[in-house]
Amino acid sequence: MVVIMKFGGSSVADGERIRDVAKLIKAQPKSKAVVVSAMGGVTDSLMEIANSVVNLSSATVEREVDGFCRELSVKQRKAIMAAVSNKRVRGSVLSDSLALIDRLRVALLGVGYLEDLSPRSMDYIVSFGERLNSKLVSAALSSINVKSVALTGQEAGLLTDSCFGRARPNHSKSKKCVAEVLGKLIKAGTVPVVTGFIAADDKARITTLGRGGSDYTASLLGKYLKAKEVQIWTDVDGILSTDPRLVPHAKLIPTLSYSEAMDLAYYGAKVIHSKMIEPAMKSRIPVRVKNTFNPECEGTLIVKTQRKVKHIVKAVAISKDVVVVNIEGFGMVETPNIAGQLFSALGEQNINISMISGSSESNLSFVIADEDLERALNILGERLGRDITRNFSTIKDVSIVTVVGAGMRGSKGIAARVFGTVADLGVNLIMIAQGSSELNIAFVIRSQDVRDTVQAIHERFIE
Ligand code: ADP
Ligand code: ASP
Ligand code: MG
Repeated sequence: MVVIMKFGGSSVADGERIRDVAKLIKAQPKSKAVVVSAMGGVTDSLMEIANSVVNLSSATVEREVDGFCRELSVKQRKAIMAAVSNKRVRGSVLSDSLALIDRLRVALLGVGYLEDLSPRSMDYIVSFGERLNSKLVSAALSSINVKSVALTGQEAGLLTDSCFGRARPNHSKSKKCVAEVLGKLIKAGTVPVVTGFIAADDKARITTLGRGGSDYTASLLGKYLKAKEVQIWTDVDGILSTDPRLVPHAKLIPTLSYSEAMDLAYYGAKVIHSKMIEPAMKSRIPVRVKNTFNPECEGTLIVKTQRKVKHIVKAVAISKDVVVVNIEGFGMVETPNIAGQLFSALGEQNINISMISGSSESNLSFVIADEDLERALNILGERLGRDITRNFSTIKDVSIVTVVGAGMRGSKGIAARVFGTVADLGVNLIMIAQGSSELNIAFVIRSQDVRDTVQAIHERFIE
């Protein structure tokens, strides 16, 4: 049975790391398929250059684009020199990479001259990060005598709808194609190295699965190949009791249930993408999160039921860059089904609501990502009428803090203790909600209070 090994941006951030990752892959005894992200920082830089050239005058577009591509070529060449020792393989991957960068250059010039950057063009441009890296990781494997081939998501058979920037997989078509293409390669002893994050729609146009989406690619491939395990290789020992950037001594969580992991990821534990759990959960495939830089550590195992619960609260997640929208006021009471209209309008625009709370239809609050606010207010203004949306107010610079643990189900007084801890710090609670599964309690506070609050909750419930 196959194991899927996914390596995130920090694990493959430069040539030396890629060389080590190739050894790690070689050491895995079972049949395997590999999924790779772009080198750390590359997706951000591709987005940045695309967003910048679209606003430049045609006189400066070419200079900017050429400067960017030159820098990327230097970075790529350096990584190839460090990761690929075999001269023949090195020459071939170098020329493939330069050809890819040339195509990227043409796309960026097009965006700059036409002053038009559609979500579709953005997906095409960011895809180069993963495409360059899958070639490089595959070459690093060939160089140490592991038979390997680099594939794009599309070549591997991953098909999606045409929702650029956050495409959804077409399971029935993808399953058939992926099983056929990758199944054949793996059977022949070849290790496919597939680009994470990117796929294609049925017109063969490149799509992406949303930021951090390589994890999702890995679990989709796992599902289609009926894998034995999906491994997420990253830069920390596994899923920790909270973000180690806030609490450096956060503890490794040895096992989590799918539902707990999904809640944690959904509410901001960036170590895994929230969408990756569902395909694994439905096919009952264990997910293991491991540290590329400390492979001996067991990591975190995510399975259906977790072992005996010692801590009632297992982890605290933080979701930043969100905004609270409050709807209340005149006109609301006379407008029928306001909540229904509101949620369907946002849903149609693919705007995700991460939290809802309210005492009646005319007095509701919901939380969305900062970046969606303008679009959300526009669409709601069109649907409900500006008279109504004029009364909406927003609270910015806030974060959602979520306390997660299966042991909370049926345990009395947890919410009181959590909120008591927040109150003791003098921190104001802006909004609260508890999931119906009772696996989580979420609340919104000012972002400036997050560090102290998370540290206090961690100390009281986990340490
Ligand atoms: P990759 O490049 O491997 O995809 P990410 O940067 O997406 O890695 O995710 C790993 C990072 O997630 C860690 O370095 C850590 O800073 C952050 N993180 C946030 N919350 C948690 C958590 N609860 N457990 C582990 N890591 C977390
Ligand atoms: N490279 C993509 C990103 O930075 C996908 C991923 O890393 O999972 O969002
Ligand atoms: Mg990630």
